[in-house]
Amino acid sequence: MKIGELGEFGLISRIASGLANGTGVITGIGDDAAVTALSPGMQLLTSTDMLVEDVHFRRVWHDPYRLGRKSLAVSISDIAAMGGIPRWALLSLAVPPDTPLEFLDAFTRGFLAMAAEHGVALIGGDTCSSRDGLTISVTIMGEQEPERIVRRSGARPDDDIWVTGTLGDAALGLELLEKGKLPSPVTVEEERLISRLLDPSPRAAVGRALAEAGLVSAMIDVSDGLLADFGHIAELSALGGTIHLDALPLSPDFRTVLLSHPSSHPDLALAGGEEYELAFTAPAANREKIVQLMKKSGIDARPVGIVTASPEVTVVLADGSTYAPQNKGYNHFT
Ligand code: ADP
Ligand code: MG
Repeated sequence: MKIGELGEFGLISRIASGLANGTGVITGIGDDAAVTALSPGMQLLTSTDMLVEDVHFRRVWHDPYRLGRKSLAVSISDIAAMGGIPRWALLSLAVPPDTPLEFLDAFTRGFLAMAAEHGVALIGGDTCSSRDGLTISVTIMGEQEPERIVRRSGARPDDDIWVTGTLGDAALGLELLEKGKLPSPVTVEEERLISRLLDPSPRAAVGRALAEAGLVSAMIDVSDGLLADFGHIAELSALGGTIHLDALPLSPDFRTVLLSHPSSHPDLALAGGEEYELAFTAPAANREKIVQLMKKSGIDARPVGIVTASPEVTVVLADGSTYAPQNKGYNHFT
């Protein structure tokens, strides 16, 4: 069966059936607007993201289940980067009528699995037909106490620059897909890198915990690459920074796959996007507390540089010399 035969309202009720009631949801899907209540003393965080077929994803690479997960994950990541608690989501779809029903069902299962993992309730959306490709738009809302919300603009000179997890995995996964490494043969290391791209894990619990502990001065999620994303913190904080190339956290998979793909470059860890890790700044005095908090959360984080009063962002090698990233488009940072 195709979506076109199901119709708009059939499709909506298929998405909406069996939804759990979420925190603060007073009226969910079905009315003209959803009604939600913020927890006492909280402010509302709102963010929206669009995923367009053949711009943000390709159906030949992205199975519908993981596409559903990622559609929400990228939005949860934005709330995490503010130190917020993700709560409610709106899902808008422009769907080609010849889309198989199984595609939509798997997409919905993925979306709702990601929602359940992070305590997010689907409270509405919009549905229409598309003449050319699938477009997914997700709006997320979260909440946090006003003094706990972490902005890009809060970095101070001499703060440490930190990143969670590892960098470059998703970017290298994308290069593998672009080189036509799917469907086979794919090594386990390659498969894990591809999975970092197709099914990212937003760092929601950690972002929230760092914010609530009052340990961080500025934060952003790494969606455009560390250089570009730290650049956003630097710009909005009217500062610069020094990033130590040797300090960048690389996964064993990244190192292994890089060796077997000499045409791929380690600069992927500096400039590769879609990692959905968190980059944040914090006073050096908070180092030990951050290490403890990360240990408890089970996610690694490490300092990769220092915020500077002068407004340039530079990358340096172990001997202190300046490194010019090979990736075009990032040379202006050096
Ligand atoms: P309206 O005509 O007022 O825009 P709709 O018929 O588009 O209302 O939507 C009916 C209900 O279904 C609304 O509560 C809306 O939020 C919800 N809804 C529509 N599309 C989706 C979707 N893709 N996912 C979740 N909820 C949806
Ligand atoms: Mg509508």
